[in-house]
Amino acid sequence: MTNEIIDGLHDGNWQEVRENLRSEIGEAAYQSWVKPMTVRSVGDGAARISVPTRFMRDWVVAHYVERLGELWNAIDSGVDNVEISVQPERSFKSGRNEGVKSTAAAEAATTAAVGRAKSEKRRTNENGAAGISAPLDSRYSFENFVVGKPNEFAYAAARRVAEAPSVPFNPLFLYGGVGLGKTHLMHAIAWHISQQDPDRTVIYLSAEKFMYRFIRALKEQNTVDFKEMFRNVDVLMIDDVQFIGGKGATQEEFFHTFNALVDQGRQIVISADKSPSDLEGMEERLQSRLNCGLVADIHATTYELRLGILESKAEQLKVNVPQKMMEFLAHKITSNVRELEGALNRVVAHAQLVGREITLETTQEVLHDLLRANDRRVTIEEIQKRVASHFNIRISDMHSARRARSVARPRQVAMYLAKQLTSRSLPEIGRKFGGRDHTTVMHAVKKVEELRECDSSFAEDVELLRRMLEG
Ligand code: ADP
Ligand code: MG
Repeated sequence: MTNEIIDGLHDGNWQEVRENLRSEIGEAAYQSWVKPMTVRSVGDGAARISVPTRFMRDWVVAHYVERLGELWNAIDSGVDNVEISVQPERSFKSGRNEGVKSTAAAEAATTAAVGRAKSEKRRTNENGAAGISAPLDSRYSFENFVVGKPNEFAYAAARRVAEAPSVPFNPLFLYGGVGLGKTHLMHAIAWHISQQDPDRTVIYLSAEKFMYRFIRALKEQNTVDFKEMFRNVDVLMIDDVQFIGGKGATQEEFFHTFNALVDQGRQIVISADKSPSDLEGMEERLQSRLNCGLVADIHATTYELRLGILESKAEQLKVNVPQKMMEFLAHKITSNVRELEGALNRVVAHAQLVGREITLETTQEVLHDLLRANDRRVTIEEIQKRVASHFNIRISDMHSARRARSVARPRQVAMYLAKQLTSRSLPEIGRKFGGRDHTTVMHAVKKVEELRECDSSFAEDVELLRRMLEG
């Protein structure tokens, strides 16, 4: 017969097992997973332990149960294995009041708890999960997202996650510079799911908010509740994880929550301004875990994409913006989409305020500060210098007529970056590269784009240079 409240000897053994495990796995993991355990009985070669939630049971079974068995066996050879069951805290307490409970009754309670988890899910959506999810911007939908070469891959991946009935890849890691649409895509996933499949729970929150929540839970010794919030989540999205770097306990917790959700087949979507391997202060095992899913990079905008976005925004604003002026802006504001949008809004607001048509002249007037800032951002000379030193060639080779691959390729990269990062026209760029023709520049841009597609280490080089020049 098993007894529910274990006796002093077994309790002493348990304390020792716990302490040993604590020293092996560290305080954070101990607090999260071991502390909430209750030993229900010891006998017939097994120690039976309950945990308050299914989430915890799955995690403990996957990660600690074997070691627990070994540690216990080292102290009491009569125990060969450890069994983990779910016993919600509330029913445990009432069970105690009723005195000794049969194993069958305990099992029934567990099953009932599992059965209830499903019907409770909707309520959890409304209370727990939805409560911590940040509000979504209704303009950030897939329909409002303009797709072009720089973002088509990230867009397709996001759509796939939103539409797939099961998890297509885990996690989806979106990364790219500021203002290029990461948050927009994440909101779009959430909108899409909430409309198509309202039964699925989606949580979207910033990494900062996640951290804040977790640190508060730590202070209030409430990490179990914290984990519970994520228990029924189908899709968890965390924005700007570069801010998680460097905070030990939070990273640890993030890692645990992350692993537990992945193991349960929940979809995770993460964004950052850098690739997983470039995230500073991020633990290696977390980095490699982030690298395991699908990593989708949003590249800097191209002229075509910028123009497309302006056309789409003008249509949404229901204002008539002259084509010439949009082309002008697409040329000049090369930094990011947020700035581009801001520029258009300013010009439109100004025109409406003074009651005059939008012209190229008023545009230049209204935006003079912004235009200057964008012009100043990076010069062709800087690009040439950076690229030359990166590939270990002389700056003079940027202008020279030498055609050896070792100098021609870097030169093409520099031309490509000049096209991407400055508002210079093709003939202007050609002139800066030893008076070359604009068709040569065009060819260079095409060539680099092709190489980026098929040679990932080349693509990384280019991306690195771009970031250095922009930063
Ligand atoms: P990030 O999170 O990458 O910093 P956001 O998603 O906040 O960037 O995007 C900045 C702004 O630019 C938002 O208003 C967003 O709607 C807009 N935006 C970015 N990319 C696109 C796009 N491809 N089509 C339409 N709007 C875009
Ligand atoms: Mg963002």
